[in-house]
This record gives sequence, C-alpha cells and structure tokens, in this order.
Amino acid sequence: MIDAHIHADTRPYEDFEKMVIAGVNTAIACAHDPLRMTTADVVLDHFHRLMNNDTKRAAANGLKLYLALGIHPRSISTDFERILDELPGILQEESVVAIGEIGLETTSEKEIDIFKMQLQLAEDLKERVVVHTPRNNKSEVTQTTKSIILENIDPSRVIIDHVDFNIVEELIDHDFMLGLTVQPQKMTPQDAINLLEEYGCKKFILDSDISSSPSDPLSVPKTVHRMRLNGFKEKDIQRVSQENAISFFNINP
Ligand SMILES: [Zn+2]
Repeated sequence: MIDAHIHADTRPYEDFEKMVIAGVNTAIACAHDPLRMTTADVVLDHFHRLMNNDTKRAAANGLKLYLALGIHPRSISTDFERILDELPGILQEESVVAIGEIGLETTSEKEIDIFKMQLQLAEDLKERVVVHTPRNNKSEVTQTTKSIILENIDPSRVIIDHVDFNIVEELIDHDFMLGLTVQPQKMTPQDAINLLEEYGCKKFILDSDISSSPSDPLSVPKTVHRMRLNGFKEKDIQRVSQENAISFFNINP
C-alpha cells in the first residue's frame, strides 16, 4: 500500500515500522508548517530535513519516502521568493515528485499570489502538485482553490486533498486526482467507504495525513481492511491504495 500524504517530520521512528508491518511500503511526505516559518531559511531547512533525515529514518524501517515540497499557506515567510528560486533545483532531486502541499487556508491576497506562482511553476516544469483544502470554510475556500487551479495548470497533474462530502460534488467532474484523508477529526474509514461507494474508486487516493494533530499511521491499512469486509472488488482496493498513486506520481514503489 501507499500512504499518499504524511508529515514524516512530526512522527516517531516507530510509526514507520508499524506502517510497514501493516503493509504500507511507500509514502509521500509533504512540506507543511512545523515551525513558525519566519524566513526562507526555516522553510528550506524543513525541506532539507525531509530530504536528508526523514527519508533515512523511514528507509531504516523499510518505508520508501517520496516528497512533495513547496510553500504551505501557513508557511509564508517575508522572503518567500527565495524558496521559489530554489524550488526548480530541489525538484531535480529523484525523491521529490511534486510541489506540495500548497493551496489556500484563508484566501488572503498573499496566499492566492503564492499559490498561483507555484501552480505556474509546476505548469512550466510539468511537475505535479499536491493541494491542501482547509478545515475552516472548506466549501468556499475550495471553490476559490478550484478556479485558481483551472486557470493556471492542467488539472490532471493536480491532486486535491482532504476531500469529503462537503466538496466532492464540486470536484468529481474535473480531471483532478482526489485525496481521501482518513484521520481522527476529519474522516473515519467508514466515512471514506461511504464516499467511495457513492463516487467509485477511479479518482481517489487514500492517505493518513499523520501530523502533530490526532492521527493514525494505520489509516490506509485499516480502510483497506474495511473495504474488504464491505465487499469492495480487489481491483478497486488496489486502485485507491496504490495504483492511482503510482500512476499520478509516476513512482516505482
Ligand atoms: Zn498535510
């Protein structure tokens, strides 16, 4: 299985072992806001840690980490241009497979500008993008997020994450890949199953978003287990728990 969205830097060594024992052998670790991101140096050191430290901690337990790096809407430093200058070089690294997680939190003008700049960079470089949707004002913010994406990048290279029943209708008829985050306070395995039963498995990828918030490193295996108990076809289980992630991120797990 693949867990398509985690925050490896917030989790203990032992979580990676648990994931692998439960059958998750690959994960995508996304950049986020683990500190007060006051300057570009803090953000770049966060990237450095994910690339050089967390990939090794995970690998020591048999978990292969790929990375999505970019400016999270809660990580906007005053000198963010320096990060945009560094990103094309960083994206050359073999482990870095997308710009992310990026997106909007409050839809402030600054967030929108930086989101657009990163989408345009991804479009120019033909890179993939992991887009966050927030907990607060989810529907409104997602509408704005969607229209900005459609104006700036080919939507087939975008995964919109933390999709739930509030926003799925808005997104399902577009070419986005859609992330289902199974996490306490967001979505239970059963909620994910209800959504997949209604909308099918073609466009969805499962993830845990394990972070400093309440999280479960076994979200993906638990959801897969529930899908089997609920009689989902093996082909559909494979799709949401690995194949869609392999083809979207173009990775070799
Ligand atoms: Zn996240």
